[in-house]
Amino acid sequence: MSSNFHPDGTLFIISGPSGAGKTTLITEVTKQVGPIGITLYFSVSHTTRQPRVGEIDHISYHFCTPERFEQMAQRGEFIEHAWVHEQRYGTSKAEVLQRLERGEDVILDIDYQGARQIADDPDLSHRSLNVFIFPPSFEHLEQRLRDRGLNTESEIQTRLQKAIDEIEAGKEFYHYVIINDDLKVATECLKAAIIAKKLQTRTALEAIGKMAERLKEERDGRSAILPMAQVPLRAPRLKARRAAHPGLDAEAEDEARQTDPRGHGRDRSQSDQVAAVGAGRGSGYVRTHRVEAVLSAACWVLGRLAPSTKH
Ligand code: ADP
Ligand code: 5GP
Repeated sequence: MSSNFHPDGTLFIISGPSGAGKTTLITEVTKQVGPIGITLYFSVSHTTRQPRVGEIDHISYHFCTPERFEQMAQRGEFIEHAWVHEQRYGTSKAEVLQRLERGEDVILDIDYQGARQIADDPDLSHRSLNVFIFPPSFEHLEQRLRDRGLNTESEIQTRLQKAIDEIEAGKEFYHYVIINDDLKVATECLKAAIIAKKLQTRTALEAIGKMAERLKEERDGRSAILPMAQVPLRAPRLKARRAAHPGLDAEAEDEARQTDPRGHGRDRSQSDQVAAVGAGRGSGYVRTHRVEAVLSAACWVLGRLAPSTKH
């Protein structure tokens, strides 16, 4: 997983009329987001409808009898289920929840009734994105259904009627609507929505917050350690400074060190001067920190030297 994307398992819910291009888009987008670090697991639904030519049990759908479907529904084994085109369809908990728990991203192709049930589930809605796919027009929809060659005339009519209901019902809870006119453009749009959802989270901010805390701790730690580490390097320079300015009063320096509002035990006038130079170069924060550390080392040495200079 790329560090750009949050690690919380997310549900991508793709809905829209039969023939809108959901299967085509899901297949295309799954291929395209994989290489940038988002692995989408397609959730295989249960259905009571008969397999079509080319469909494989447990890959296209888990095909099951109405009795078995009913048992599963009674036992609460679906996160959502609905009647669609006079057949039952459902998303099983086993198919989705374990993956989400493991931090995996799941993509569903379900109708608006199922999408609404998930939107109403507080445990799932916050980690879900609802996308509605629609063709450029009803004429396009009808044409695609015919060209696909999978449905009878009466099935095509039922699907067209349902498309009208779907648009009305979906208004309340879809986050995005994508018009699947040009397939490439629609794929880009779906990809953008998925990427945006994987960037949008508190978890990412918390992770960055933790990094900032670690940096702060490291910084505070370094300030405390540096004076000791810098002693051998800085002491000769300070001795030279004292030699060059015999009038330098160690007690006055001590006083300046104690009145430092930040309590870092540094020579304020000098550090502020150097910090200002650093800031002028656009790296003020880092330079100020380093300068503070070095000067606090210097003052520590001054403090140690002070008694001996009195004698
Ligand atoms: P759904 O899964 O929504 O029922 P499909 O993905 O099966 O729809 O697409 C229905 C038909 O429309 C398929 O034959 C598919 O190749 C075709 N199709 C999908 N997207 C487009 C598009 N942008 N332009 C033209 N035909 C498309
Ligand atoms: P088809 O039978 O053509 O594959 O799918 C018909 C409709 O059922 C599509 O709109 C599809 O999104 C929807 N569908 C597929 N699986 C599920 C599911 O698990 N739950 C719900 N609610 N709808 C589903």
